[in-house]
Amino acid sequence: MAVFVLDKQKNPLMPCTEKRARLLLQRGRAVVVRLHPFIIRLKDRIGGETQPLRLSLDPGSKTTGIAVVREVERIDPDTGEVCRDAPVLWLAELAHRGTQIRERLAARCACRRRRRTANLRHRAPRFHNRTKPLGWLAPSLRHRLDTTLNWVQRLRRLAPITALSQELVRFDTQALQNPEISGVEYQHGELAGYEVREYLLEKWHRTCAYCGATQVPLEIEHIHPRSRGGSDRISNLTLACRPCNQRKGRQPIETFLARAPKRLAPIKAQAKAPLKDAAAVNTTRWALFQALTATELPVETVSGGRTKYNRTRLDIPKTHALDAVCVGTVNQVQDWNRPFNIQTPGGTVQGISHRYCQVLQRADGYGYAFQPKPTMEEARRAA
Ligand SMILES: [Zn+2]
Repeated sequence: MAVFVLDKQKNPLMPCTEKRARLLLQRGRAVVVRLHPFIIRLKDRIGGETQPLRLSLDPGSKTTGIAVVREVERIDPDTGEVCRDAPVLWLAELAHRGTQIRERLAARCACRRRRRTANLRHRAPRFHNRTKPLGWLAPSLRHRLDTTLNWVQRLRRLAPITALSQELVRFDTQALQNPEISGVEYQHGELAGYEVREYLLEKWHRTCAYCGATQVPLEIEHIHPRSRGGSDRISNLTLACRPCNQRKGRQPIETFLARAPKRLAPIKAQAKAPLKDAAAVNTTRWALFQALTATELPVETVSGGRTKYNRTRLDIPKTHALDAVCVGTVNQVQDWNRPFNIQTPGGTVQGISHRYCQVLQRADGYGYAFQPKPTMEEARRAA
């Protein structure tokens, strides 16, 4: 991970390596500003050359992945195309407290209700005529938006960020060319395949259509088999677990489910039904997008299908932070698994008097923790 560097007047400079930061500190040319994230300030420098940095966000319901990458554009000598590399400088995962907020508010509501029925029965209700202001978000969602924006602002103060990337939708309906209406064949290319998969996962609630199994690898299944003239249209596709898929084989669905007519009808109906919210976007993502555009930096928005496509193609394990790196047009990702070789004795040391301690950093409302890097095997199992 890179170390953030500020100049004498606290303006952001290019982040440097850990080794360079250590040398600067040893020589007394820099001081530590914060420990989490690690920031140093140079004592003898004002301004300096910077390179373009991109801040990528992968907003999730429980965790938001944040990545700061250097933007490197190079021209592929073979094809002559412009490729975008992403040397990773900094990764973070922001854990949201949406559920906690919801629970606390529900508890507060219950307390107030008791007070109302116990003590104030005689008082006329005054809950009429109250409207929510435009753009109102539920507190748990508002918190998710606010904390994410807070980190965008913080990072902009720490590094010379010139562009933002955000995953806006789970899958790109444009890439699918509105499959339910126009019914275009989905195999336009590899990327379109990923969009289709994400779309189907959402549509079929990540379960096997035939046996209802969840948490198993699901395969794309043709309801009317291709060998019998079935098309590749989205409305002919569903998801099935491997055993079901193999048992069904080339049979038409009517034969396969002859003994379970109760299952047949819903599957047929679901296949024809377009996904309820066609954009399939969650509110906070749009609200975040609007807030990010207000920063006046160029904002690139992409679909989750592309993120997954990038991650799989570049063989990167699935974590929220690394997902953020894969957001957008990325041809190559570098430096994300640089070895980290600091040996610690391990274990907790207890019984140290406060006299030997000093305040290094005041609390700022966030708890910080380092995350061990996932090994490739662990990550594959999780994916
Ligand atoms: Zn199944």
